[in-house]
Amino acid sequence: MQLYSLTLSQARSMLQEGRVSAVELTRAVLERIDSLDSRINAYITVDPEGALEAARRADSAIAAGNRQALTGIPVAVKDLICTRRMPTTCGSRILKNFRPPYDATVICRLEEQGAVVLGKLNMDEFAMGSTNEHSAFGPTRNPWDLERIPGGSSGGAAAAVAADMCLAALGSDTGGSVRQPASHCGVVGLKPTYGRVSRFGLVAFASSLDQIGPLCKTVADAAVVLEAISGHDPADSTSVPEPVPDYASLLEGDLKGLRIGLPKEYFRVEGLDAGVRQAVEKAVRVLVDLGAGVVDISLPHSRHAVAAYYVIAPCEASSNLARYDGVKYGLREKEQDGLVAMYNATRSRGFGAEVQRRIILGTFALSAGYYDAYYGKASQVRTLIVDDFKQAFEKCDVIAAPVAPTPAYRLGETIDDPLAMYLSDVFTLAANLAGIPALSVPCGMADGGLPVGLQLMGAHFDEATLLKVGHRFEQAAGIDAKPQLD
Ligand code: GLN
Repeated sequence: MQLYSLTLSQARSMLQEGRVSAVELTRAVLERIDSLDSRINAYITVDPEGALEAARRADSAIAAGNRQALTGIPVAVKDLICTRRMPTTCGSRILKNFRPPYDATVICRLEEQGAVVLGKLNMDEFAMGSTNEHSAFGPTRNPWDLERIPGGSSGGAAAAVAADMCLAALGSDTGGSVRQPASHCGVVGLKPTYGRVSRFGLVAFASSLDQIGPLCKTVADAAVVLEAISGHDPADSTSVPEPVPDYASLLEGDLKGLRIGLPKEYFRVEGLDAGVRQAVEKAVRVLVDLGAGVVDISLPHSRHAVAAYYVIAPCEASSNLARYDGVKYGLREKEQDGLVAMYNATRSRGFGAEVQRRIILGTFALSAGYYDAYYGKASQVRTLIVDDFKQAFEKCDVIAAPVAPTPAYRLGETIDDPLAMYLSDVFTLAANLAGIPALSVPCGMADGGLPVGLQLMGAHFDEATLLKVGHRFEQAAGIDAKPQLD
């Protein structure tokens, strides 16, 4: 077995037992990136020197008996998480050369836990998109089929984990951007409860929905990373001072008595691929064999989730992205005739088409006279969606659903049809609107040998149950196929 194909948990044991050094492991992964990433384009920035220096520090820490949860583990982060030693582009031309003056809280936590940060991962510009085609740095390709999208917006993160170009990654999920690419690339992705992980230093897209989450090779690995990055942060007033469980120790355990809710509306969605439906239904049967029971539930307002999200997210984005004006950050286009012309030139040339579309949509919806009709109404719908989940969790412990209606589609298929792309988020948006945690775990293959994910949604702050169910499923189903890249 190659060193780069180790899971995080396997690498931890090998480092602990002295069977590999952090420097050897980091070199192996850097070489993997070198040999593969010209075909996949998962990374925007790789920092070999910084990574090897961190690996040397990790080896000294291990030698001194100071091992932390992630000591010596090579990881990478989506390029909208601020890093002092590397640029943070958000996949945008407007921030092409932006180097933040500080590290995000999650970066500090990864480093305190001894992780080796290899580089920054490709993404749809400002996390707006579901395909990774909306990146100013070119699309990322799906390791299972290089002519297909990896999903988005954390497509670089999912592709890098799937192709063994890091042992684990951090993405962000505003409407599905951790879970959907994880599903399309056959890796595990977790969106934590809103407030579980600090957003300090996460470049804002839609602040009431954004949450950082891990993408990993196994559920057990995701438990380790989640624990490392979770917890209250005085620098983020929306992070919640709830104690952080020892997630990794809660993975085993019985599923007897566990109630799995199947939302009837989710399985009636038009355009749900037969292979995806079969894989998800089969996964539920595996959970039943493990002792869980199934209950039918209803999430009646989920059919409005796409409409509500595509008002709320662009509104918040239009406000958050007002700060990129050529004065304070990144790109400034030189214009001769005044400040307003400079703003216009910078924003017109700095932002790509999808980001401009969202800014225009959000600015329009927030304009005087329209607020009540759009943002106000969408917020009311959001409350109804929250109530649906509250009622559902009285009847069940986790909700099982597909992640995306189809497996990864071909590059270019929705590039001129934004509405089709928005509609493909139908299964993931509600969890963000409600702030609940949700996990995507590989559950099989659809036609064409493309991975399919099972989505498990849980009650607020009940990541532990999701991880336990996901872990037990993973062990029982034994899905361990890998993309053929060599
Ligand atoms: N695909 C969704 C969007 O384009 C979600 C993106 C995300 O979660 N960052 O808005």
